[in-house]
Amino acid sequence: MWEHPYAIGGRKGRANQKKMMAGNGQTDVIRITLPDGSERTFPKGITGRELAEQLSPRLAREALAIEVNGEVRDLSRPIEEDARVRLLTWKDPEGKAVYWHSTAHLMAEALEALYPGVKFGIGPPIEQGFYYDVDLGDRKLSAEDLARIEEKMRELARRDVPYERIPVSKEEALAYFRKKGDPYKVELIEELEDGTITFYRQGNFTDLCRGPHVPSTGYIKHVKLLNIAGAYWRGDERRPQLTRIYGISFPKKKELDEYLHRLEEARKRDHRKLGRELELFTFSQKVGPGLPLWLPRGATLRETLITFLREEQIRRGYQPVVTPHIGRLELYRTSGHYPYYKDSQFPPMIEDPETGEGYLLKPMNCPHHIMIYADRPRSYRELPLRLAEFGQVYRYEQTGELSGLTRVRGFTIDDAHIFCRPDQVKEEFKNVIDLTLYVFRALGFDEFEAQISLRDPNNREKYVGDDALWEQAEQAIREAAAEMGLQATEEIGEAAFYGPKLDFMVRDALGRRWQLGTVQLDYVLPERFDLYYIGADNQKHRPVMIHRAPFGSLERFIGVLIEHCAGNFPLWLAPVQIAVLPLSDELNDYAEAVGQRLREAGFRVEVDTRTETIGYKIRQAEVQKIPYMLIVGRREREAGTVAVRKHGEGDLGASTLEDFIKHLHGEIEAAMQRATVSENA
Ligand SMILES: [Zn+2]
Ligand SMILES: [Zn+2]
Repeated sequence: MWEHPYAIGGRKGRANQKKMMAGNGQTDVIRITLPDGSERTFPKGITGRELAEQLSPRLAREALAIEVNGEVRDLSRPIEEDARVRLLTWKDPEGKAVYWHSTAHLMAEALEALYPGVKFGIGPPIEQGFYYDVDLGDRKLSAEDLARIEEKMRELARRDVPYERIPVSKEEALAYFRKKGDPYKVELIEELEDGTITFYRQGNFTDLCRGPHVPSTGYIKHVKLLNIAGAYWRGDERRPQLTRIYGISFPKKKELDEYLHRLEEARKRDHRKLGRELELFTFSQKVGPGLPLWLPRGATLRETLITFLREEQIRRGYQPVVTPHIGRLELYRTSGHYPYYKDSQFPPMIEDPETGEGYLLKPMNCPHHIMIYADRPRSYRELPLRLAEFGQVYRYEQTGELSGLTRVRGFTIDDAHIFCRPDQVKEEFKNVIDLTLYVFRALGFDEFEAQISLRDPNNREKYVGDDALWEQAEQAIREAAAEMGLQATEEIGEAAFYGPKLDFMVRDALGRRWQLGTVQLDYVLPERFDLYYIGADNQKHRPVMIHRAPFGSLERFIGVLIEHCAGNFPLWLAPVQIAVLPLSDELNDYAEAVGQRLREAGFRVEVDTRTETIGYKIRQAEVQKIPYMLIVGRREREAGTVAVRKHGEGDLGASTLEDFIKHLHGEIEAAMQRATVSENA
C-alpha cells in the first residue's frame, strides 16, 4: 500500500455485477475514447487486457496497466462505464511506477519466504525504482543478503503467478493483519474507510494495497536491489526505525545495465564525495547535522558565484540590502510564517510565555525586506524596487531528510524581492528569466525547462487576490516566458494560494532533472503588511511583490553544479585556477614569482613548493581538478617562460607568462560571451 495519486478503486462485488450483466447481451455497450480522440463501442465489462487485444496485439503484449477516466487500474478490471482510456506501457511514467511498485510486492514476498515473521510498512515506487520499509527485528542486512533476496525474487518471478485484486471489508482486513501480527498494516488499515480497502495477492503473499499492479509476476524480468537505509515509521523520529530496501527493475537486461552504468557515473560525481576530495566543504557532528562548513576552496567558490551574480544584478537595477539572521516573532506572525510553518523551523528563542514575545531564526528573508520597503513612503516613480540579499536562512529539516548540500538546515538564498505595480509584472518576469538563463548558461547548464504554476479556475475561493489581477498576472507570466524563448509547461492548480509562479528546472550531464530557481508572485504579503505606494494620482495603491532566486539556495545549487560538471568547474569559477609546479626546490623562487605575477593579474593560484616529485605534484593537481598547471624547470626560468598543462588534456607546450595570461582572459571572455547569447536573439 502506498500514498499515490491514484484514486482508490475498490468497489465490492464487481465480479458479480459482471456476471449479471453477461446475460443482458449486446445492448450493454460502452463508448471508449482512445488517446487519439477516436471513439469505439465495446461490450460493457470488457477488461483492459481484452481491450488491448482488440486494439493491437503489440499493445496487448506491452500493456502494463490502463488509465480509465484518469484513474490507473489493473488490466484485469472490467470497464463498466463510458470512458476515456489510455493503455500504459513501460514508456509511460505511470507504467514504470506500476512496474516498480509490483516489484516491491515481489520483494516483499521474497523477504517473507526468507525471513518469516518480517513486518511491512509501505512500499511505494519512486522516481527511479521502488523501496519497501520493513521491520526485520534485530537482523541487519548485508550485501550478500541483498543478493539472496534478488535470487529469491527471480525464482518467484519465474513462477509467473497473477497479482490478484481482492476487495475486503475493514473488519476482514484488520482481522487478517492482526492474525498475521503486522502492527504497521493494522495502523494503516485503521485510518482507511470501510468499503475502500483492497488486498492484492500473488502466490502465498498478501498485501494491503490500493494497486494497481502488472498482470503477473512474470512481467518482472531484471531486478537489482540497490541499497539499504534506516527510515522511521511514518517519518517520525519517535516511532520505530525500519529498514528501507531500495531496488529497481527493468523489462530488458540492456536497460538495467545502462541504468547501473549511469548509477556508477553518478556515484563518481556524488557531490558529497567530490566535496571531500576537492576540499570544498565538510560537516561536523559537533556543529550539527545539515549545517555545512565551507572550507577555504569551497568558500572561494561560493564567493565567486556570489560576486558573479551580484555584479550582474547591479547591472540589472537591483539594490543590495543586508538584514540580521533573526527577527521578532511578531514579524513572522504578521507574515504568517509563524506559527503556520512552525514544524519546519527551529523553535523560537527567549519566547516569553506571558506576552508571546520572542525571536525566531529567520526561515525566510521576505519579512525583513518588506520592512525596508515600508521604512518610508514610496512613490510610483521608485517602482520597481528590487532589493537583493544573499540571505542566510534556517529550517529544521528532519534528520533523515538531510543529504549533503541538497537538503540542509542552514542555507543561503540568492534572494531578491521586487516591489512593483501590477502593470510591471510582465517586464519584471522577463528580466528575471533573462538573468536566470544567463546564469545557467554561464555555468554550463544548456538544457533547462520551466513550469508555470497557475490557479485552478474552478476553485477560485482557494486563492487570495482578485480575479482580474490573477488573469492579468498569469497572462503576463505566459507572455514573458514566450517572449524570452523559454519552453514552459503549464500546471493548472499548482499555484500557491498567494500567487502564480514560474519554476526553473535544469537537466544535468547525466540527464537528471533538478529544480533550481523560482519566481513567485505574491498578493498576500503586501496585504498583510499593508504596503502601499503613492501613485501618479496621489492616491495610495497596493504594490505586487515578486520573490525570486535564480540559484534557489547556494548550497543546493553548488551541490547540483558539482555533479553536473563532475567537479571540473569552468575556469572563471574554479577555486584554484592555476597550480604552479616547480621541478625542484631550487626553482621555488621562480615559481613563487610566476604565482605572484598571476595573482596580480587577478587569478587564483597555488604554488606547490613541497619536496615531492613532479609526477606526484601533477597527479595531485589532476585529482584537485585544477584547470591549468604551469611546470617550471631551469629551461623555463632562463627563457622566462612556463610549460602549460591543461587538466584532462595534457601538455600545451611552452608559453611566455604574458601570452598565457592573455589566453586565460580569452577563455573566460568566451565563456561569458556564450552565456549572453540567448536562444531567441
Ligand atoms: Zn501494491
Ligand atoms: Zn521571499
